[in-house]
Amino acid sequence: MTRAAPELFAEVVGQDRAVARMSAAAERPVHAYLLHGPPGSGKREAARGFAAALLCPQGGCGTCETCRRVLDGVHPDMVVIERTGASLSVDDAQKITTRAQRRPIEGDRQILCVPDVHLASSAVPALLKTVEEPPPSTIFLLLADDLPAGLATIVSRCVQVPFRAVATSDIAAWLLGRGVEEHVADAVAAASGGDLERARLLADDPGFADRQQRWHSVPSRLDGTGAAAAMVAEELLALADASVAPLRDAHAREMTALEEQAEIVGARGITGRKDVEDRHKREIRRYRTDDLRMGLAVLADTYRDRLVATVADPAGTSHGAGAERRRAAAHVEAVSRASGALRRNVQEALLLEALMVELSGMLA
Ligand SMILES: [Zn+2]
Repeated sequence: MTRAAPELFAEVVGQDRAVARMSAAAERPVHAYLLHGPPGSGKREAARGFAAALLCPQGGCGTCETCRRVLDGVHPDMVVIERTGASLSVDDAQKITTRAQRRPIEGDRQILCVPDVHLASSAVPALLKTVEEPPPSTIFLLLADDLPAGLATIVSRCVQVPFRAVATSDIAAWLLGRGVEEHVADAVAAASGGDLERARLLADDPGFADRQQRWHSVPSRLDGTGAAAAMVAEELLALADASVAPLRDAHAREMTALEEQAEIVGARGITGRKDVEDRHKREIRRYRTDDLRMGLAVLADTYRDRLVATVADPAGTSHGAGAERRRAAAHVEAVSRASGALRRNVQEALLLEALMVELSGMLA
């Protein structure tokens, strides 16, 4: 048996330790692994590479038919089980248990990949039973964005493979390698929040620079009136709505590929179409919120620059400069607070309008 080929993990960026851990593990695997780290850190891509190493007769050569099919997501013994609702439910866990008991279709092993295990809460006991003692032919690759306390029992039954947010410099270098211009690569990497999927889409998004510019110009468009505040808030929401266009395109391409695949194997339609559509909806929601958060970061930076400018001003001791500084600091604080609130499932339209009104009120 050879060590897993690096090509298997070509889509995984800046996760050297996780990759080393998985390729070493592939030689003598245990029954369950937990790949955990923030969204966009490459867990799904890594799981595919890992599964290829586990299913390939040569231990992950990266070139054989088995490796290729696993990487393309069309190998019958690499099964990804998506949750069907907002959380991973007891029904989902039941489906996983049933699938785990089945025999592999082609070889002597099957890989069950379960994303979003951090959303398992009520299903933890049901899931635990299966994960604890799967049949020897089943290997679990569980994926989680984080490790809430309720997951402790599952965590303790798995070998852990931690992922980190991809470093900005790694994302920039990766974009450069894909032929993205340097100034775009730097701006996209900074705006990606360590999320490679987002970086990939932003780099090809013709609206990205314009959105950043509009957020940057918010302070100059607030004139202290409620009308201007409402108009700016409305425009920022429209920008967030428009930002998801590249992701919708990517989803459409994925659907086409799945339809073609279904046709090849003679299926009447895509298996699990509803699950895929639900995942797409969730991804759209998250992408849109991330774009708002990105905009708020640009806005906070804009106010922060003003703060630095007032501090650096040699006339800073003069009358009015102290008030100017306090105002700039209050602006930064208000924007940071709004960004924090965005994480807590607030009504985005109300949040933005309230923020714009607040920022307007601090003008005078
Ligand atoms: Zn192979």
